[in-house]
Amino acid sequence: MAEAKMYYENDADLNLLENRTIAVLGYGSQGHAHALNLKDSGLNVIVAQRPGGNNYNKAIEDGWKPVSVAEAVKQADWVNILLPDEVQGKVWQEDIKPNIKKGAVLSFAHGFNIRFKQIIPTSDLDVIMIAPKGPGHLVRRQYEENKGVPCLIAVEQNANGKAKDLALAYAKAIGGTIGGVLETTFAEETETDLFGEQVVLCGGLVELINSGFETLVEAGYQPEIAYFECLHEVKLIVDLIFEGGFSKMNCSISDTAEYGEYVSGKRIITEDTRKEMKKILDDIRSGKFANGWLKENKDSRPFFNKERKEVSKRTIEKVGARLRSKMLWIKK
Ligand code: NDP
Ligand code: MG
Repeated sequence: MAEAKMYYENDADLNLLENRTIAVLGYGSQGHAHALNLKDSGLNVIVAQRPGGNNYNKAIEDGWKPVSVAEAVKQADWVNILLPDEVQGKVWQEDIKPNIKKGAVLSFAHGFNIRFKQIIPTSDLDVIMIAPKGPGHLVRRQYEENKGVPCLIAVEQNANGKAKDLALAYAKAIGGTIGGVLETTFAEETETDLFGEQVVLCGGLVELINSGFETLVEAGYQPEIAYFECLHEVKLIVDLIFEGGFSKMNCSISDTAEYGEYVSGKRIITEDTRKEMKKILDDIRSGKFANGWLKENKDSRPFFNKERKEVSKRTIEKVGARLRSKMLWIKK
């Protein structure tokens, strides 16, 4: 397979961002990290954050003078939308589109609204993505430690001829070119991101852990033991895989565990499971998943809220809360 090109510090030029005012819309997980990193990289930043919540108070504590989205957009040469994906379409229509400067840069940290056409930008705008592959608090913490979370960049519209260089410069300003930057498209980033979180990271993992736990408890084993085996140890195993792939993990576990991996793994993830993975990917690509999520939000989230409540009532959550309260190192 051809190797994808990675971009690092010397591939990006921060000077391209001088004399531009960058509006960061939203001071949540990504917003606070981008705003602070951009400022510490010497750039001119305005923060838009609505009053009334914790994020507003945090923005004030961090020394910003937060303004409304409309106000920030009016003043900016670059608008980065770091609002929840499900509200971006509405905020675009009401506050961004009527106020954005001609020829400005419009950027995102995730491709959802462009890929599923909730935002259709005018042709004068550069439309790009800078998507850190990690949560906001890590984007900030790693920057402070002179490390950096790897980023994906993408260009949807190159109206003014320098869109990719601008995306690279922005990635550098938030620390991304230390970790490494990879170019993608809005479609590839959105589809793979949704697939990863549904099939492996969130949907798949949560149900795998819980099903293993409940199988042991229903068979009469102590819930505490089931918790350690099926949840607590996940992190220890994933750390090994993260550091050195499956081979490193296999070197570190016992040969008995490795034999069990080969005997039972494919009984759990079967050909049928793979078929279902393909169907989930089809639902993502056709827009069925996105439309469902947008409709769910229009209806005030009946399914989402019911499921969230049910997960919180699971036995594993109660057992876990009790055990973790004694594991003082976790809180650090
Ligand atoms: P958060 O939920 O952490 O923050 C959202 C921000 O938007 C908050 O400041 C919130 O303010 C504000 N906001 C919410 N609703 C409205 C509204 N109707 N009008 C105005 N402001 C509003 O979001 P994230 O940082 O998680 O996500 C932002 C973007 O980054 C998304 O596109 C996401 O996909 C992407 N992303 C997120 C990652 C992550 O790890 N979290 C990783 C990579 C990309 P308030 O506090 O008042 O609600
Ligand atoms: Mg993701």
